[in-house]
Amino acid sequence: MPELKFDKAKCDNCKAISCLVKCQYMSLDKSEAKKEWQKVINGEDSFVLEACVTCYACEEYCPFGNHPFYLIVERQEEKGILPQSRPITKQAINMTTAQGKFLVGKPEKTALSFCAIPRLYTLATGKLFEDVLPSWVLGTEFFCQAMFLHFARMSVIKENLPQVIDNIWNQGIREVIFLHDECYGTFTKLAPAYGIEVPFKPIHYFEHIYKRLKELKNEIKPLNVKAAYHRNCSARLVPETDHFVDDIFGLIGVQRIKREYDHENALCCGGLLMTSKGYDLGHDVQKRNVDDMVKSGAGYCVFNCPACWDPLAEKVARRGIKPIHIIDLCKLAIGEKQAVEVTV
Ligand code: SF4
Ligand code: SF4
Repeated sequence: MPELKFDKAKCDNCKAISCLVKCQYMSLDKSEAKKEWQKVINGEDSFVLEACVTCYACEEYCPFGNHPFYLIVERQEEKGILPQSRPITKQAINMTTAQGKFLVGKPEKTALSFCAIPRLYTLATGKLFEDVLPSWVLGTEFFCQAMFLHFARMSVIKENLPQVIDNIWNQGIREVIFLHDECYGTFTKLAPAYGIEVPFKPIHYFEHIYKRLKELKNEIKPLNVKAAYHRNCSARLVPETDHFVDDIFGLIGVQRIKREYDHENALCCGGLLMTSKGYDLGHDVQKRNVDDMVKSGAGYCVFNCPACWDPLAEKVARRGIKPIHIIDLCKLAIGEKQAVEVTV
C-alpha cells in the first residue's frame, strides 16, 4: 500500500504550527497545538482527531507542504474514528464502487473529466468547451476518490487510485481537464504525496476557461456585477489555482468582493458538517458565510464545487443573492444561458 511522505523533522522544527493554530473549527494556541500535533504524529489519542470537521484547510495552512490533513485522515482511520456515521460511510463506498457503468464521449488525447458527477456534464457545454467536446469521461471508473478524505478512508483512496489512473490512461487520454478541484487536487497533490505516479497531464478547468475566454474576448459583454466567491474545501488542496478566479472575473467584468470568509479564511458549505457534527454547527457556519456575503454587498455568489451547491445555493438565493457556478457565470458573459439554477 502506498505510504504518505510525511517528514516529522519539519514539524519538530516548525514554530507556528499553523496547521492547527489557524484551524477555524478548534481553538488552540501555539503550545497546545504543538502538544496535540505531536500526539497525532506519534499515533497517540488526541481530541484533534475527533474535532476535525475534515475541511481540508490545514493542507493549505502548512507552509512546508507536510500534509497534515492526510496524516489526520490516516490516524482517524487507524483509530476507527469516523467523521461521518458508519451507514453514511458505507453508502459512500457502495455508491462509488466501479461497476462498469461508465460513460464516455469520444475520448481523444485531451479530454474533459466529469469525475462521477453528472452535473458537471450539464455545465460543460457551449463555446467554452467546444474545442474539446465530445472528448469526455464520466463515471465511477474515473472517480478521483478524494471524497474519502471526509470519511477517514485513506485506505480506499490508496487502493483504488492506481486503477482509476489506468482507466483514464487506457482511454488513450494524455491530458485531462478536470472540472472539479477534488480531482485536480488528487492527481497533482494527493497522488504525489503517496508516491503514486500520474502519467497524464492534469489541467485545471479554471485554466481552460480562462484560455477560452481570451480566445472569445470579442464576444464578452462585461457583466458589471459584484460577486462573493464561495471557496470550497477541495480548493485547499490547490491554492495555487485561486488566482484564476480573479483572472477570470477580470475578463468578464466581475468584482470579487472583499469579505471575511474568502481566501484562507473560507468557510465550509455546511453540507457534510450537518451529518458529521450536527445541524447546529452546519447552520451556524452557513449563516455566518451568507451573512458575510450580504454584508459585503454581493449580488452573486459564485460556486466552484458542485457539491457545495446543494447545501448552500438555495440559502443564498433566499437572501437575495444569485447563486451561480463559475462556468455558468462565464457563459452569461458570452451571451449563453445558465445551465444550473435554483428557484425559490
Ligand atoms: S504540519 Fe506543517 S504547519 Fe503543522 S506542525 Fe508540521 S510543518 Fe508545521
Ligand atoms: S481539516 Fe480543517 S477542521 Fe480538520 S484539523 Fe485541518 S483545518 Fe482543522
